[in-house]
Amino acid sequence: MSQNIPEKQWAQVIEKTGGPVEYKQIPVQKPGPDEVLVNIKFSGVCHTDLHAVNGDWPLPTKLPLVGGHEGAGIVVAKGDLVQDIEIGDHAGVKWINGSCLACDFCQQSDEPLCAKALLSGYTVDGSFQQYAIAKGAHVARIPKEIPLDAISPVLCAGITVYKGLKESGARPGQTVAIVGAGGGLGSLAQQYAKAMGLRTIAIDSGEEKKKMCLEELGSHAFIDFATSKNVVKDVQAATEDGLGPHAVILVAVNEKPFQQAAEYVRPRGTVICIGLPAGAYLRAPVFESVIKMITIKGSYVGNRKDTSEALEFYRRGLIKVPYKTVGLSELQKVYDLMHEGKIAGRYVLDTSK
Ligand code: NAD
Ligand code: ZN
Ligand code: ZN
Repeated sequence: MSQNIPEKQWAQVIEKTGGPVEYKQIPVQKPGPDEVLVNIKFSGVCHTDLHAVNGDWPLPTKLPLVGGHEGAGIVVAKGDLVQDIEIGDHAGVKWINGSCLACDFCQQSDEPLCAKALLSGYTVDGSFQQYAIAKGAHVARIPKEIPLDAISPVLCAGITVYKGLKESGARPGQTVAIVGAGGGLGSLAQQYAKAMGLRTIAIDSGEEKKKMCLEELGSHAFIDFATSKNVVKDVQAATEDGLGPHAVILVAVNEKPFQQAAEYVRPRGTVICIGLPAGAYLRAPVFESVIKMITIKGSYVGNRKDTSEALEFYRRGLIKVPYKTVGLSELQKVYDLMHEGKIAGRYVLDTSK
């Protein structure tokens, strides 16, 4: 059940933690009975991929590793047990590559919490290759009218921020602060928030990101964390009544903003932690947290339903993904820019180059 599938393909591989990534040819794998083989056309580069190279987290990656978990492409082969997706369909290889579908969490559609979840570009090879494997039950179903390059960042960044916004409980008309607004997750968070009827305050640094957040992504205020004399006061001042945002979506890659959010969030407000800076801790003053009755929560990617909903927002024309496309061979350059915090929006890799 397959088309003309080559034996070898181009991929970006790390042999050891710390890198470098090496652009080389590796064999194309065959899908198992419950798996599909996706000819990846485009893959977004998420900061998680850089955390994986750097070994930032207390969870080891497989090695050697092909990273990537925002892979959009075409199904070219499938195992016998995969019934509801056909060869030629468009599909997305996302962070949750597979899960057991039987445990307590999977039964309740909390598959990111499954102890047996397979993670694309982390515990199994991901989308920085021309042919990637994922469980048929878990690949994103991408409607054919959606362009594969533009949708790729939605497959992690979009799903994750959409879920985070839902977890925040913020309602239309309320204000959400997006911390790390100029990056991949942050730029999409502003778009999803706007589509959900929320007002957004963007927090990040530099003129390019400021311009993007205010002029393209619809935030009504931008606070530059590097030049602000008092981020807490500035965020509160950017809300109409000065009481602070109803929710905070933390997608920054530094610990400091994780320590500040509880200070500026509005009484009864919710702080949603999504970014995963290395070795970081959450810290909030007990007194203010109690008397302001605030909620602090983690939010981790999304389930299959969050995936189809996030894609549907895009299909309906509600989401504009700010991205630049470069060849798969240029991944290291993307990592270098990301490390320096110089990427406004997302980079998408074209696997044919
Ligand atoms: P990115 O590099 O594109 O963006 C991060 C942004 O944070 C940058 O624009 C940077 O300037 C900004 N930033 C740094 N310090 C800041 C500060 N003090 N205040 C405000 N902004 C600051 O990264 P990304 O791809 O958007 O990923 C962001 C984080 O989210 C990463 O840690 C990634 O691993 C994590 N992530 C988590 C999940 C999840 O499910 N929880 C999913 C995807 C990514
Ligand atoms: Zn990601
Ligand atoms: Zn499970």
